[in-house]
Amino acid sequence: MTQQTLAPGHQATDHEAEDRPIREIERQSEQNLWACYQCGRCTADCPFSLTPSLAVRLLQLGQLDEARKLATTWDCASCYSCQTGCPKGVSPARLMKALRALDGGQAPAVFTRPADLLGRNGDPLPLQPAARPRWAPRARLAAWTRRMRAHALASMPRAFPLMSAIAPLSNRMMRLPGARQLAHLVLGVHRDRQLPKFAAQSFPAWFARHQPLGDGRRGAVILFHDEFMDYNYPQTGIAVTEILERAGYRVELFRGVCCGRPMISKGFEDGASVCAVKNVPILHEAASQGVYIVGCEPSCLLTLRDEYLHLVPQGLEAQARVVASQAFLIDEFLVMLHAKGELKLTFRPADTLRPVLFHGHCHQKAFADATKSVQLLELAGYDVEFLNAACCGMAGLHGFEKRHFEASRAACERSVLPAVRSRPDADLVIMGVSCRQQIEQFAARPVRHLVEAVRDAIA
Ligand code: SF4
Ligand code: SF4
Repeated sequence: MTQQTLAPGHQATDHEAEDRPIREIERQSEQNLWACYQCGRCTADCPFSLTPSLAVRLLQLGQLDEARKLATTWDCASCYSCQTGCPKGVSPARLMKALRALDGGQAPAVFTRPADLLGRNGDPLPLQPAARPRWAPRARLAAWTRRMRAHALASMPRAFPLMSAIAPLSNRMMRLPGARQLAHLVLGVHRDRQLPKFAAQSFPAWFARHQPLGDGRRGAVILFHDEFMDYNYPQTGIAVTEILERAGYRVELFRGVCCGRPMISKGFEDGASVCAVKNVPILHEAASQGVYIVGCEPSCLLTLRDEYLHLVPQGLEAQARVVASQAFLIDEFLVMLHAKGELKLTFRPADTLRPVLFHGHCHQKAFADATKSVQLLELAGYDVEFLNAACCGMAGLHGFEKRHFEASRAACERSVLPAVRSRPDADLVIMGVSCRQQIEQFAARPVRHLVEAVRDAIA
C-alpha cells in the first residue's frame, strides 16, 4: 500500500496536491501503480480486447480524468484475467474498479477510446483529447439510462424466487413474443442472449424436504448458496449436499442475503457493502466456532473471502477476516480433506466414466487455484483435460448486456469453443454458473458443474 501522509506543519506543494487523487486510487485498490512497467500483457490477455495497460499508464501520468473516461474502465467485466498474468502482480482490474467508484459510481457522459488517446509512438497523448461532441442533455440521459439498466440488472436475482414459484409458467412467459424486447428495454439484455430457465422445485424447497444421506458425525458445514443455484440450477445444490452428507457432514444453508457480487460487477459498491455488513456477523457466528463455509460459485464465495475485507467498515474487519479464513470453494475443501486422509468416498471404476474437459472460472484462476478442481476430478476417477483458456466471455452479468454481447460471443469463440469442438468425446465440466450459461448457449452442448460430475462418479 502506498498511502502518503504529510508530516505535521508540512504544506502540500501543488505537485503533491495534484498527486493526491491518484494516491487515493492506489490506496483504495491496494495496488502499486509504479510496479507496472507497461509490458502490455494485461492488454493482450483481456478477453474483451480492452486496454487495461493504457488505463494504468494514464494513472501513472497523473491523467486521472482521462483514465476515468477511458471506455475500458467502464467496459471492464471484472473477470481479473489481466491480474492473473501480470508479471509484477498489478491488478489493473482493481485500479479500474476504484476509478469507477469515484463520483459515487456515476459514469461520465462521454467515453474516450484508446485510438483517441494514443500518439504515433503508442504512448498516451499528454493533453486531454477533444471528446466527440454530443448534445449534453442527450448524453446525460444516455448515462442515466445506462445506470438505471445496470441497477435493474444487478437487482434481477431478487425476482428469481417469484419466477421459480410460478415455473413453468415463467419459462413460457419468457418465450412469448415481446418478452425479449421487454428484457432488452428494461434490463438492457441483448435479444439473442438465452435467459436461464427457472426450476419448478427450487433448491431450498428440495433441501427442506430431503432426507440427509449420512449421520453428520463430522459436524456442520455452511453451504454458501446463490440465486442461480437456488432457482435455475438446483441440481448443483443437490449434488453438493449429497457429496458433503456422504462425506459425513451436516449441511446447513446460509440464511443471509445475496453476497453482493452482482452489485460489484455493475459498479454499485455501496449496495455490495450493505450485503457485506449484513452477512459478515451471521457468518462470523459459525466461523468463529470453527465451522467451514463452503461454496460452489467462485464469484460468490470469493466475494466473501476477498472483497468483503475491502467492503466492511473498520469495526467489522476482524470478523470479516475470521469468515475469510473459514471459507473454501468446494474443490479446495474436498482436496484438503483428502490430503488429511479424511475424505471417505468410494468412486465408480474409472473405466465406467467418460473423459472430461474442464473449464475454470476466471475468479477461481485469479484468487484461488483452478488446478484443485482438476485434482478433485482425477480423485473421482476422471480422465481430465484442463482447458486453461481465457475468460469464456460471460463474466457474470456482463455478457447479458446488449452493448457487451458481441464482444462476449467473440471472446467465447476465441477462448473456449475451439477446444470444446475438438473434444466431442468429452463431457464439459465447469465451476461457474456464467461459464455454464455461455458454453451451453454457444456450444449447444450439455454442461455440468464440477460437483455434479463428482457426485455422478460416487459408487
Ligand atoms: S501486465 Fe502488469 S506490468 Fe504489464 S502492463 Fe499490465 S499491469 Fe503493467
Ligand atoms: S475485462 Fe477482465 S481482463 Fe479485461 S480489463 Fe477487465 S478485468 Fe481485466
